[in-house]
Amino acid sequence: MTWCRTIWSDSIPPPKSFTTWRLFHRRMPTDENLQLRGCSLVSMCNLCNLSSETSDHLFLLCPFDVDLWHWIGDTFHIQIDNSSLAAILSTCNLHCSPQIKSVLAAAIVHTVNTIWHCRNLCRFQDS
Ligand SMILES: [Zn+2]
Repeated sequence: MTWCRTIWSDSIPPPKSFTTWRLFHRRMPTDENLQLRGCSLVSMCNLCNLSSETSDHLFLLCPFDVDLWHWIGDTFHIQIDNSSLAAILSTCNLHCSPQIKSVLAAAIVHTVNTIWHCRNLCRFQDS
């Protein structure tokens, strides 16, 4: 798969790629995925307190993320379609320069990790 080659590259540390791989396969321990596995819990997105925590909300659609995806789009002078992770990663295929493609892929993977990191800081350290 194209997105696989995009996220597993020499320019991205494997643990960072792994988070994106898990998100793609719906294996991040978000409230939604824990509920699907039988955990009974009340869900609220810690980044906005406006919605329950589904994977799509937490990583793609939360107002916190929308600002980040727009910022990346503005930085690279491209339009990022944040309707799905596949759509975001497909943005990398629009560029012919391998160097820009590589930097964009790293930015996307690091953004996914940053969102998860911030979510955990809010949830577990209240910061
Ligand atoms: Zn949110």
